[in-house]
Amino acid sequence: MRKKIVAANWKMNLTLAQGEQLVNDIVNAGIKLAEDQVVVIAPPFPYLLKVKQLIRNYPGICLAAQNCYSEKSGAYTGEISAEMLQSVGADYVILGHSERREYFHETNAQLAKKIDLALANGLQPIFCCGEPLEVRKAETQNAYVAQQLQESLFHLDAAALKNVVIAYEPIWAIGTGLTASAQQAQDMHAFIRAQIAEKYGREAALGISILYGGSAKPSNARELFACADVDGGLIGGASLIAADFTAIIQSF
Ligand code: PEP
Repeated sequence: MRKKIVAANWKMNLTLAQGEQLVNDIVNAGIKLAEDQVVVIAPPFPYLLKVKQLIRNYPGICLAAQNCYSEKSGAYTGEISAEMLQSVGADYVILGHSERREYFHETNAQLAKKIDLALANGLQPIFCCGEPLEVRKAETQNAYVAQQLQESLFHLDAAALKNVVIAYEPIWAIGTGLTASAQQAQDMHAFIRAQIAEKYGREAALGISILYGGSAKPSNARELFACADVDGGLIGGASLIAADFTAIIQSF
């Protein structure tokens, strides 16, 4: 059975003290996670060890980094390797977020290298894909997302792909307050699953978790998560407020 995942992407927000408070509020909310349910918290790099410590007694809560570099190690001042993330206890790493693609010019080819390094170091990549507004307006979003999958993920073999989580994040919905409708989300998630089925077979496609991201909040999470091919969410803004994030977790 594929996992249902709600992941918090804090981005470049919160001080360490604020982050600690937020994690404590989440773990103390008394949420009962089902066996197939996972909560993932992706704080900024300097807080990874502290957050790992705070969640250590909560087996359903995992740690993610927000990025890693596309080389193994070496003279890359300011960068963080997949091996380093693994060594501080990260379970997941978000890769290919649209903000990384836009502001740091990450390409599909570079992301393929990051995916390989993450997997080689035992991290589960949360691979973000999704189209900008002009592509949605031109109704070419399927081809756009298919290319992202092909160029960053589809070099993997079936065994490796099993460890990847996909997050569909239409760029026009991220941080804008505009959410994809449940139908738009379901259509794209079903399309992504069909692409995987075509390349890797039906069983592989049914086993992979596909999350929705883009202005998800307590008021729309239930409808989004009720879609057959939506296996949870990657949450930005609403993950910074304990009450909102816990309400989203409870939306399954
Ligand atoms: C994100 O950045 O991954 C995201 C989904 O942000 P928001 O929830 O704020 O739209």
